[in-house]
Amino acid sequence: MAEIKSVKAMQILDSRANPTVKCFVETEDGISSASVPSGASTGTFEALELRDGGKEYGGKSVMKAVSNIEKIIAPKIKGMDVFGLEEIDRLMIGLDGTESKSKLGANAILAVSLAVARAGAKSEGLELFEYLGKKFGNKKFCLPLPMLNIMNGGKHAGFEHDIQEHMISPVKAKSFGEGLRMSVETYMVLKAKLKKKFGSTAIALGDEGGFAPPIESTEERLELMLESAEEAGYGKEIKFALDCAASEFFENGKYRLGKKEFSSGELIDYYADLCGRFPIYSIEDGFAEEDWPAWQEFTKKSGSKIQIVGDDLLVTNPKRISKAVGLKACNALLLKVNQIGSLTESFEAARLAFRSKWNVVISHRSGETCDSFIADLVVGIGAAQCKFGAPARSERAEKYNRLLEIEKALK
Ligand code: PEP
Ligand code: MG
Repeated sequence: MAEIKSVKAMQILDSRANPTVKCFVETEDGISSASVPSGASTGTFEALELRDGGKEYGGKSVMKAVSNIEKIIAPKIKGMDVFGLEEIDRLMIGLDGTESKSKLGANAILAVSLAVARAGAKSEGLELFEYLGKKFGNKKFCLPLPMLNIMNGGKHAGFEHDIQEHMISPVKAKSFGEGLRMSVETYMVLKAKLKKKFGSTAIALGDEGGFAPPIESTEERLELMLESAEEAGYGKEIKFALDCAASEFFENGKYRLGKKEFSSGELIDYYADLCGRFPIYSIEDGFAEEDWPAWQEFTKKSGSKIQIVGDDLLVTNPKRISKAVGLKACNALLLKVNQIGSLTESFEAARLAFRSKWNVVISHRSGETCDSFIADLVVGIGAAQCKFGAPARSERAEKYNRLLEIEKALK
């Protein structure tokens, strides 16, 4: 038993200068903290991120969520055992009482949930990934394959009607560290190429640390990525993944990508064509979050060849995951802890996906802090892939660096 002595919270800033919540949980073993991320291309069915409105920070302050932690949650969980993470999460979910966590805020509940888990690891004298593994029921710790978003588009770069993320994965690397190095070398070749071709403004970074050059065509971006991987010496070792974030360019039943308009069927053919021309092994959110027939058709056609990842479609929500499993709408879960708002429900989402023989990709948000909790999470639950952005900017690099540390510790 490690009793919770105090729970405090405060407002800090995320990587986009938006306020977010940080929580501190104290036991006799010390103080543990955690902070929550925030998305930009959010799914409609995500749990609610409570923001204050009003004038300060353009209405984005999170002082209500902070106050909910200190005034409503803290008195109820003080004296409880940090090892009872599930009990604490269920209690907070009950205190909130809404489907979308709109009363207390998913940002309030998640901050406490993550800090309680860290406090549990500290009290048990375990590394966080080991503790999460124990809670989840996983003993096999492996390093994941990273998906690095080296070209940012869509909402993360201020572009409309655009594919959001162009990622590289070092699929043939012998270790996580080697794969990270190969990816960074490719990123650096791309940087030099972009500067030479478009000038210095083309190497400005988007929200997730990838370059955001003024290129409208996905094909041109992928071509440059392919040339970069080849020039870095990894033409065969690196594969590509896309996050289309298609809900963002779905209008009146049509997909407007660049200057073209696509029906669902035409978009399915377009993706199949892209996969034939480039080494793409994974496509996330290829269709809008409620265009279930398109997801089903795409999975039927391409699901045996590539990974089809649901993000906005599933929002880490066990109910939507069950629906997608039943409809065979995709074959992989993108797991974002703040979409559902507690660690216990995130575990439930992952368990459902694993049981359905799906892949699980642990993901950051476009608005992040330097908290590297999700690096421990991916190893802890034994997910095979992670998506933490480009290997640049501290809020992204910190998570890859934590994986390097875990790799060293496991050796
Ligand atoms: C994503 O869409 O997968 C993503 C990480 O972006 P955001 O956090 O803006 O939803
Ligand atoms: Mg996504």
